[in-house]
Order: sequence, then C-alpha cells, then structure tokens
Amino acid sequence: MPRAIEDVIAAARDFLGERITTNVALREHHSHGQDPHKPHLPDAVAFIETGEEASRLLALCHAQNIPVVPFGAGSSLEGHVTPVRGGISLDLSHLTEILDVSQPDMDCRVQAGVTREQLNEHLRDQGLFFPVDPGTPHCTIGGMCGTRASGTNAVRYGTIRENVLGLTVVLADGTMIKTGGRVRKASNGYDLTHLFIGSEGTLGVIMEIQLRLHPIPDAISAATCQFPSLKGAVETVIAILQSGIPVARLELLDELQTQACIAYSKLEGLEPLPTLFLEFHGSKAGVEEQARQAEEIAASYEASSFAWAMDTETRTRLWKARHDVYWAVQGLRPGHKVLTADTIVPISKLDDAILGVKEDIAGSGLAATVVGHVGDGNFHTVILVPPEPDGMDRAWALDRRIVARALALGGSCSGEHGVGIGKREFLEAEHGPEALAVMRSIKKALDPRGILNPGKIFLN
Ligand SMILES: Cc1cc2nc3c(=O)[nH]c(=O)nc-3n(C[C@H](O)[C@H](O)[C@H](O)COP(=O)(O)OP(=O)(O)OC[C@H]3O[C@@H](n4cnc5c(N)ncnc54)[C@H](O)[C@@H]3O)c2cc1C
Repeated sequence: MPRAIEDVIAAARDFLGERITTNVALREHHSHGQDPHKPHLPDAVAFIETGEEASRLLALCHAQNIPVVPFGAGSSLEGHVTPVRGGISLDLSHLTEILDVSQPDMDCRVQAGVTREQLNEHLRDQGLFFPVDPGTPHCTIGGMCGTRASGTNAVRYGTIRENVLGLTVVLADGTMIKTGGRVRKASNGYDLTHLFIGSEGTLGVIMEIQLRLHPIPDAISAATCQFPSLKGAVETVIAILQSGIPVARLELLDELQTQACIAYSKLEGLEPLPTLFLEFHGSKAGVEEQARQAEEIAASYEASSFAWAMDTETRTRLWKARHDVYWAVQGLRPGHKVLTADTIVPISKLDDAILGVKEDIAGSGLAATVVGHVGDGNFHTVILVPPEPDGMDRAWALDRRIVARALALGGSCSGEHGVGIGKREFLEAEHGPEALAVMRSIKKALDPRGILNPGKIFLN
C-alpha cells in the first residue's frame, strides 16, 4: 500500500477508530455496485457518522490526493461506486437519522443514509409520503440524489430532482456548505442544490437532504391491461398521457417480461402478452373515473383485458412484481448476467423507440426484455448476457445500438440510472463538446485535485 494512503488511514483512526478498516470482506463489498463492470477494491472503507468526520477525512484525502468514493447502498447500475483508482470508499449507511418532519409544510430533513422505505415507514402515521420510488427499497436518499433517481411514481410526482429543496454537502477539501432551503421556490443565485443532484459523488458528499413530501391519497386503484400487440400497448400509453388523465404510475412490460414476472412473482390472471401496469391516485370517485377513462382508451387500441382493483393486497402484489423484474429476468436464464439499458425519448417517439428496440434485440440474437416507466418516455432493455467469452461484448453492442436509436429520436442515454462508467462514451454526442467542457470546468472548480469518485461521468 502506498505511503500516502497509509498516512491517511493512520490519521483517520484518531477520530474514526475501527470505523476505518482494511478488512478484505468489507473492501470486496465496496468494490462494485449492482452492475456487470469489473470490480476494483478500495484501499480502505470508512463508515462516517457525522459531518465533522466527513470534513476531516476529506481534508486529509485532499491533502494527500487520495480518491474518495461515496457509497450509499451500492445499488446503482452503471459502475458508479467502483473505486477504479483505489482510495477510500466512504460509506454513508450509518447516517440514518430523520432529523425533522413538518406536517404543515409537508417537508422533512434527513441524513444521507436514510432509506426510502425507512422514511415512508416513519411518515405513514402523519398522512404523508415520499414518492420517489426506485425499484430498490434499501437504496439511500443520498445515493438517489447521487444518481438523480426516479422510478414508477415520477410521471405524477417528479423525480428526486423535483423533490429536493436543499442540501448539506461536504466539498472535496472538507469545507461544508448548505444549499437551498425550505421554501418551494426561490430566485436567489445559482442553483447549487440541483448541481449536486445527479453528480454521482464527483462534486461533493451529501450529508443531509431537505425533501418535499406529499399527502397520502384518499384512494388508490391499480390496473393491469393486456394487448395482443406491443404497438397497441405503446399507442395506449401515448393516448393516456395526451388525454391528460393524471396517472400516478404507468409501466409497460413486453411479452417476455410479462412471462418472466408470471413465473417469478406467481402473478395470476395474466397471459404472457404485452402488459401495462397502471395506478391512479385521488378521491374514490376520482380514481374510478380515471380508471374508466383509461379503460376506454385501451379498448380503442384493442386491449384484450383490463382489470382494476382498489384493495391493498392486490396492489402490493402487483408493484412488488414490477419491482422484482430484474430478478425475474435473471430467473429466465440462470447463469446469465444482466445488463440494463436505460433510454428515454420524447413521449411522441415512444412507439418508434420501443418497436425499433425490439428489432435491435431480434437482430442481436440475444434474449432481452423491454420494461419501464413509459409514462415518462423512459424504458429499460434488460439484456441477458450469455456466459460465453464474447457475451458481454455482444450485450454492450446491443446497448450502444439502443442508445444511438434514442439519441437519434431526441432522447437520452439515461433516464434515471446515471452515467457512472457505462454511459461515459455517450455524453459528448448527447451534450456536445462545448457543454461537456463546461461540466469539466465545474468539476475542476469544485474538486481541483480530482479526488471525488474519479473515472466516472468523464471518459478521462
Ligand atoms: C433491481 C434494481 C432496480 C432499480 N430500479 C431503479 C429505478 O426504477 N429507478 C432508478 O432511478 N434507479 C433504479 N435502480 C438503481 C438504484 O437503485 C439507484 O441508482 C439508487 O438511486 C442508488 O442508491 P444507493 O443508495 O444504492 O447509491 P449507491 O449505489 O451507493 O451510489 C450511487 C451514486 O451516488 C453516489 N453517492 C451515494 N451516496 C452519496 C452521497 N451521500 N453524497 C454524494 N454522492 C453519493 C455514489 O458515489 C454513486 O456515484 C435500480 C437498481 C436495482 C438493483
């Protein structure tokens, strides 16, 4: 181990004690996320419990040019948390305090390691909820800020970006700053809060987050709707969105994904056909009316079935199945890895994009499903990577083709998973060299020594 990192670990022991460790199992756990990229061990893992500890550790690392990679729950999908240049994996999972909840203002302040599930459990009795819902219940709010996460509810409530009001952040040299505040809007200078949202741990370490909350709706209904063709399902999505029905969730599963969910989640009453999962929030009469309108639209695109329910048990089973799609796909071909493309296009281009991707999959000779948050124009292609020497190369080639198609349609390489390692090569094509140069200069201003999560977002 080089001298500089040994010095940092020794100095950090003074205030972290055993919470900075070179234990091999812990380093291994922090060497990768939920992704198919090559893992890389950090030199040490530090579990911090206060802002002051984070400041002191970052100041030490800054002085010695030691990389620091923030780590929430490690559920990100693009190699984000892999310490490709070693250094310290800065684990924030001990920061689990919900600091303040204001029912009248419908907001709260949480530490970065609070999980989405923990927060909603805490809020339930107060009639409030935090709507941003990535598939992983254990992911941290800090990590969700890191990746600018969203999920199934974003079509109605927005992504994490729309639900963060302010932050406390420790910068690369250990300086702590506060951004934003508690007000719903402000016209008061550069928007630093949203600069950190989606910065993937490359600009600062988020310690606290001020969040917007929402009232739990009086009534919720969920529906499933099946189609003989994928085209009918996609056209129904576009028509529902254009009709202005305030749908809360609108998810598409192609026929292979539906088949995988029926098998993995024991879903009853569904055929292996293209399927929409929908959810409506509002008053009892309101959700009944929304479901009826959606059913009428689906019928005009030749839906073969439309079933809806208001009981909690049916809804929970349905959304648990939706959140388990990743594992359901793995269940189709045990021994295969999974690579997930995360493209997004303007709503009017959804049919071109999804039907084109189905052609890309067929041309690749690989098995892959299409599933996603089509209410936002965002969908995933979940590619099964064959356990053969060229398996990963073939999967990446398909991923590239899918991204190129999205970009050509005015879309993006990532709707919600982020850039990490996997999507770096597309940023110049998507933003242009001038905008990318501005991003680099922001990175340089906030992290002049390049110690924060190096090797991510930018190719070099
Ligand atoms: C099965 C499955 C389904 C998923 N579905 C969705 C989905 O529907 N929508 C979606 O958006 N995502 C989804 N994801 C991806 C993932 O859950 C999100 O990326 C999540 O936001 C990451 O949270 P985390 O706590 O695991 O962060 P990590 O993976 O630990 O970190 C993510 C990034 O944020 C940085 N980071 C972490 N904490 C901080 C902090 N406090 N300050 C600064 N930077 C930090 C890290 O350095 C890293 O770059 C899914 C993942 C899986 C495995």
